[in-house]
Amino acid sequence: MSSQTVEEQISPEQIRHEVARRRNMAIISHPDAGKSTLTEKLLLYGGAIQQAGSVRARRAQRGVVSDSMKIEQERGISITSAVMTFEYDEKRINITDCPGHADFGEDTYRTLAAVDNAIMLIDAAKGLEPQTKKLFEICRMRKLPTFTFVNKLDRPAMNPFEICDQIEAQFELPCYPVVWPIGDGDRFKGVYERATRSVHLFERGERGKKAEEVHVIPFNDDSVAELLGDELHAQLLEDVEILDTMGNEYDYDLIMAGELTPMFFGSAMSNFGVELFLKMFLEMGRCPPAKKSNTGLVDPDAKLFTGQVFKLQANMDPKHRDRLAFVRVFSGVFEKGMKVSNARIPGKSIALTRPQSLFAADRYTVETAFAGDVIGLNNPGVFAIGDTLCGDSSKKLSYPGIPSFSPELFAYIKNPNPSAYKNFRKGLNQLLDEGAVQMLRAKGDQGNEDPIMAAVGQLQFEVVQRRLKDEYNVDSKLEPMGYNVARWVTGPGDPWEALEGCGRLFNVFYAKDQWGRPVCLFKNEWSLNAVIQDHPNLEVAPWSFAP
Ligand code: GDP
Repeated sequence: MSSQTVEEQISPEQIRHEVARRRNMAIISHPDAGKSTLTEKLLLYGGAIQQAGSVRARRAQRGVVSDSMKIEQERGISITSAVMTFEYDEKRINITDCPGHADFGEDTYRTLAAVDNAIMLIDAAKGLEPQTKKLFEICRMRKLPTFTFVNKLDRPAMNPFEICDQIEAQFELPCYPVVWPIGDGDRFKGVYERATRSVHLFERGERGKKAEEVHVIPFNDDSVAELLGDELHAQLLEDVEILDTMGNEYDYDLIMAGELTPMFFGSAMSNFGVELFLKMFLEMGRCPPAKKSNTGLVDPDAKLFTGQVFKLQANMDPKHRDRLAFVRVFSGVFEKGMKVSNARIPGKSIALTRPQSLFAADRYTVETAFAGDVIGLNNPGVFAIGDTLCGDSSKKLSYPGIPSFSPELFAYIKNPNPSAYKNFRKGLNQLLDEGAVQMLRAKGDQGNEDPIMAAVGQLQFEVVQRRLKDEYNVDSKLEPMGYNVARWVTGPGDPWEALEGCGRLFNVFYAKDQWGRPVCLFKNEWSLNAVIQDHPNLEVAPWSFAP
């Protein structure tokens, strides 16, 4: 038997090949826009699942094995991000599932830090919804290539130009329709593909049947007018004319910079437009790119394994009390059993013995992984969000941390039952480790006072309380604080000295984060602005990176 490691056996050409065929995406949307349905249909094309309905069935199943996720079942929302992998046309596609609820902003943010492309799913009848707006903003901030899929064209829909206008007006994000819908509701006939100037007409099959029949016909073919009917044909001619003369031009570089969103239209439920979208995404989507580190750019096809922890999850299966750390691979070859260093804990080498990949609820052991993949590692408490893992401890390489959302809700969390003190602490620490919420303390607190939970949305509090009860069997009480805006003080110079230099700030609560850094809580934006005006030199930020 060869004593070579897998890493040594794999040639640089193989690594390049593996990286080049990888595409990953997170599908983000307002709840009910059809994310589960679209995911299912995509998996169907990869043959990853045998029948539609499985993603939801798996979610339901997961609910059964993991009663810690009761809230998820009750509200029908997805709290945890799972990763699904499938192969299509010799490409390997990783879909990271994002929670779609506003209250899980933090988790969504971290998931977006681990993917190379975002798919924004919009309900054609509703256009931009509040949650979609926030998510679009995050994608822009991260300069993520963002593809827009307008769904449910089989139902009465808004005018597609109006949907484009909304995106352009509200985000200053220009759209480039790659396809254009022909009709909507009962008259939805298919889409026009601009690059090939052809129409894809779909024949409705029975509901739930795998793929619908699709006919692709050149736009200038004589039969098109007859097939569409006069009205739809005239409408399409007019629309195409407008798109070609007044629409944005296709610009690949702008798409890669997240400054132009390619738009697709279809119906996930009737499985129309999904395969065309998948094909175009594989062509246009970003491959795993080089990643900035403290020592410069790291190439995805470099030999050295590097990755970053972007999500922690405890008790996915309460029977085993397990903890998983999800790692996005940024370069090199990951192999089962390899030893890595964690940039945060110098000098300690960690053997990754039970790496797992996740297909929704199912886990299977991963032998190798490449840039663009996500692996789940057992976490006996050695990994934190943002940790950089590296196959060579002499390298001292680390990736920039993953920022948190700026919290907007603050509450003391209290233990009403003194005899449960130990479990209360343990549960709280573990959930805080996971990043389920952030924890602050009053400035002078030496650890004896009640901690302050800081959340983006109310549901985050509920999840923490519920999980404390279900997983650690402890009760908790919340005492809301009347503050709604947080700012980390970052300078100039030593942040505590900078803050003290301002004198006593009126109506401001002085807190510190888990690393002892100053955080000011304000009643509202107005109160924040007053402080900024009075102290123009004070440097503040709405969120912070782990040090
Ligand atoms: P999620 O909350 O975003 O995951 O949304 P789901 O995939 O669960 O879909 C929400 C509802 O919209 C379900 O009742 C779906 O059957 C329905 N739905 C999804 N896609 C379509 C579509 O293309 N057309 C129609 N008419 N309904 C759809």
